[in-house]
Amino acid sequence: MTIGIIGSGAMGAGIAQVIAQAGHSVCLHDTNSAALQRASTSIQANLRKLSEKGKIKPEEAEAAIGRVRTCTDMDSFARCSLIIEAIVEDLAVKQASFRDIEAVVSDDCILASNTSSLSIASIAAACQKPERFIGIHFFNPAPLMQLVEVIPAVQTRPGLAEEIRDLVQSWGKLPVLTKDTPGFIVNRVARPFYGEAIRILEEGIADMATIDWAMTELGGFRMGPFTLMDFIGHDVNYRVTESVFTAFFFDPRFKPSFTQKRLFEAGYYGRKSGRGFYSYG
Ligand code: NAD
Repeated sequence: MTIGIIGSGAMGAGIAQVIAQAGHSVCLHDTNSAALQRASTSIQANLRKLSEKGKIKPEEAEAAIGRVRTCTDMDSFARCSLIIEAIVEDLAVKQASFRDIEAVVSDDCILASNTSSLSIASIAAACQKPERFIGIHFFNPAPLMQLVEVIPAVQTRPGLAEEIRDLVQSWGKLPVLTKDTPGFIVNRVARPFYGEAIRILEEGIADMATIDWAMTELGGFRMGPFTLMDFIGHDVNYRVTESVFTAFFFDPRFKPSFTQKRLFEAGYYGRKSGRGFYSYG
């Protein structure tokens, strides 16, 4: 089975690694050749590190590396049975992209989005065959995070969600079926985690380091909210908050903050840009 991935950023690269390790051929596409090069380098480094640590055999690492092909055009998508999209979190851009993808892929190719917050139905609506469309939502970093949300849209054909759940399970992940609602399960639960942390900061109740420390050392979280937002990227995280807020008809529980909006507008995306709530390197 050959699987196409569009978008070779943090998520696309991680998903490509998962799928290649599971034994599938991967066509990893991005319009930005520098992003493709970075993805390729990181997949190779991650797999070789796993083999150095003895978690996989060296020949398994090299075989998985050999299964990932990168390309700046979509021609190779014609051979794919499944396409997973992991481009920018913008409905119009995703819809336009799926129109282009549908022009290339075979009639029975399944189409999936890794969107964090957009409605699967709204992306599927741009497709000529929306019944083959579904959400497959990985978490960052995809090779390490076990959970994957599988989200059928109202248009998705019966049975496809179960097929995808089984496929994702065969990749060693723990899939969960969820309804097509804003933020699905995890990103809905996560909105107040970030939102309240920023409000605590804005109200001068505690500083970032103290909030992060309390949540990790005492709360049992792997990362505190500010470290985690910087890790995800404010370009992604702010857009998700705005999208969930809008999709819930402006429910104040999900209201975005100006503090994060300004970081997003300034291009202070976090770890990936060297500066976010914290500074890096
Ligand atoms: P990213 O910015 O790291 O990568 C996006 C990539 O898509 C870039 O390399 C960019 O060049 C490419 N791209 C943009 N438009 C394109 C187009 N039209 N055609 C081809 N390539 C295009 O973003 P990311 O963090 O990997 O997020 C990607 C998607 O996954 C988003 O929908 C996001 O909401 C979702 N997601 C992100 C996370 C996370 O923690 N970062 C977690 C789960 C889901």
